[in-house]
Amino acid sequence: MNLAFGSLTDVGRVRTANEDSMLADEQRSLFVVADGMGGHNAGEVASATALEVLVSRVDGGTSLAEATSEANTTILAKASGDANLAGMGTTLTAVTISDGRTAVFAHVGDSRAYLVRGGDLTQITEDHSVVEELVRDGRLSPEDAETHPHRSILTRALGVEEHVEVDAYEVDLLPGDRLMLCSDGLTSMVRDPAISVVLRRERNSQRAAETLVDLANRAGGSDNITVIVLDFEPGPLDAQNPRPVGGGASTGEPTGHWEIEEAEPSPTGGAEHPDDMHRPRRRLSLLKIGLYLAPVVAVLLVAIAVTGWYARGTYYVAIDDERVTLFQGVSGGVLWWSPTVERRSGVEVDKLTVAQRSDLTDGHRFSSSTDAESFLRRLEADVARRSRLQDDSTTPETDPTVTTTVP
Ligand code: CA
Repeated sequence: MNLAFGSLTDVGRVRTANEDSMLADEQRSLFVVADGMGGHNAGEVASATALEVLVSRVDGGTSLAEATSEANTTILAKASGDANLAGMGTTLTAVTISDGRTAVFAHVGDSRAYLVRGGDLTQITEDHSVVEELVRDGRLSPEDAETHPHRSILTRALGVEEHVEVDAYEVDLLPGDRLMLCSDGLTSMVRDPAISVVLRRERNSQRAAETLVDLANRAGGSDNITVIVLDFEPGPLDAQNPRPVGGGASTGEPTGHWEIEEAEPSPTGGAEHPDDMHRPRRRLSLLKIGLYLAPVVAVLLVAIAVTGWYARGTYYVAIDDERVTLFQGVSGGVLWWSPTVERRSGVEVDKLTVAQRSDLTDGHRFSSSTDAESFLRRLEADVARRSRLQDDSTTPETDPTVTTTVP
């Protein structure tokens, strides 16, 4: 069979950096998608490191699954030697073509490998994510999974634990088969039916990769997007070495028998003690939740600062303890900011007119202490003036002797 391929990696519409790494190496017959994660540029370092290690180990004759396991060790070592890289990790989905007819996969994380055969799209890899595990256990419907807020929380990745379980698959290839590797920047934006349409209709592998990236960007492009499309076309020797072909196909395209076999577990993948299974989940979950929550926390802190500024930056005049009182703050308090007494005037509540009293019942608000203070002074002057008028008009009646002493 002849191999044709197309590939593209794109930063997407939202992120400022591309943490995905991609390898499409025809000479080595090695094709890899790695989706890095971590602060600063640590995600890029993690995914690029995975590719470097894979290439050097595969060149040295190491199997793909074992090379993936060694990439895990190298990423952990790099992270432990550099505070900026601490906590970095990456997914990895790799395929190599052995003897020109067998696709051998190694896989960790939520990047994916698909096969298109006879017009059908099949996902070869299983996502190592919390949400996909819930779906596999029947505890979440595939429809709900697509919009689940935690769909990017991984249960397995490179760079998390000393030992990583690497999934290995083999697919016997047929002429006409098409493989597609991608990061979750595609599958979180574009659903399988739409992916299937593109992969069935666009026969050019490079244009198929570009169209898929374009679709993801048009759907929002909220993550980095990487796509590799591999086409296995009939070669001159294929007619002499026919592959077993199953029945039941009505499309006319090759729809032969094929199997996805999960290969033997890798030497490092045996430790399934509950602690070993849970620790990576918790660590990576916290990392991803942290990245998720950082903007939320920032917005919250700004909101609290604004509220505090508002709560302490306003003033009001109200009746407190039977006296007209100037407060700093908001009547009733906001969050943990309670109003404080700025000045208690000598004006007693029973000296106020009905209108003044009702104005102060819920507190008369001011945006500055100067405004509040001058309002209070005017009120004091008004009450004093009225009380003088009252005294003047009542004095003769209450104390007639005073007038009689005047000559
Ligand atoms: Ca991603």
